[in-house]
Amino acid sequence: MEREVRVRFAPSPTGPLHIGGVRTALYNYLLARKLGGKMLLRIEDTDQNRFVPGAEDYIRQSLEWCGIELDESPWNGGPHAPYRQSERKPMYLQYAQQLIDSGHAYYAFDTPEELDAMRARLTAAKVPNPQYNSITRAQMRNSLTLPAEEVKQLLESGAPYVIRLKVPRKEEVRFNDLIRGWVVVHSSSIDDKVLMKSDGMPTYHLANIVDDHLMEITHVIRGEEWLPSAPLHVLLYRYLGWEDTMPQFAHLPLLLKPDGTGKLSKRDGDRLGFPVFPLEWHGKDAETGAPTVSSGYRESGYLPEAFINFLAFLGWNPGSQQELFT
Ligand code: GLU
Repeated sequence: MEREVRVRFAPSPTGPLHIGGVRTALYNYLLARKLGGKMLLRIEDTDQNRFVPGAEDYIRQSLEWCGIELDESPWNGGPHAPYRQSERKPMYLQYAQQLIDSGHAYYAFDTPEELDAMRARLTAAKVPNPQYNSITRAQMRNSLTLPAEEVKQLLESGAPYVIRLKVPRKEEVRFNDLIRGWVVVHSSSIDDKVLMKSDGMPTYHLANIVDDHLMEITHVIRGEEWLPSAPLHVLLYRYLGWEDTMPQFAHLPLLLKPDGTGKLSKRDGDRLGFPVFPLEWHGKDAETGAPTVSSGYRESGYLPEAFINFLAFLGWNPGSQQELFT
């Protein structure tokens, strides 16, 4: 049976919404509207350290100003509510447990000092890109190396632990990205990523995959910075038994600095004479805690239609002379 097209925009409330984020939201929205599908918004707020009060409201207002309508969201609800990850914790725990039970994940009890020592050891041995993986896990304190009785005791004693994905040593992970084409990665280059943190919160990777599955997402359209995470996500779909309904991936090129060296920053925008945030922001900077104010498109007198057309045409052209779209 043909599935209804369902896409999502999944921002983390860590500060003002960058125009790159608006562009991602716009592409999702356009695909949903073109194919008669649904677009939802999910707030990915599992990283409490990076949470910025007011950011969620800023995201909502920015999208409203741009005219990007949401079919389901924390604000207008929907059949898959709640749409805030911090309110969905029990679901992630359930699937982390499923992965442990099927042997695809394990408990790790290493302290930060032990992890630092491991990285220092690997660095001294000139191992490029030190990781917790199929080789190093054998020397660490986890449920794969410790006797079962000790693991049980540690869990019962309330000792801090994380749950890690057991990435196989030698396997080919492949997926067909709608923009990049076939991406093939060897599993030896993938870390045994943490799925559940010691504070009981899931990491982005687990929460994102569980939610995309439960929310019946058919296309994951997001910035290219997530391309390196996609092979790990493919493994998660496989181990959770969801490969048949795995969404199609489309990793969008980012909006870069004029010299191509990185993501377009607020300073670049100031220099080039256009704001990199759609609205004025009176929140706090996620890193420094200092109040941040950007002039914003609304305050500069730009019309949302002009802004949206400008964004839609960055790095792309319909092959005709038409310059303005509704
Ligand atoms: N929360 C992630 C972000 O803010 C979402 C990435 C994704 O779309 O999978 O970029």
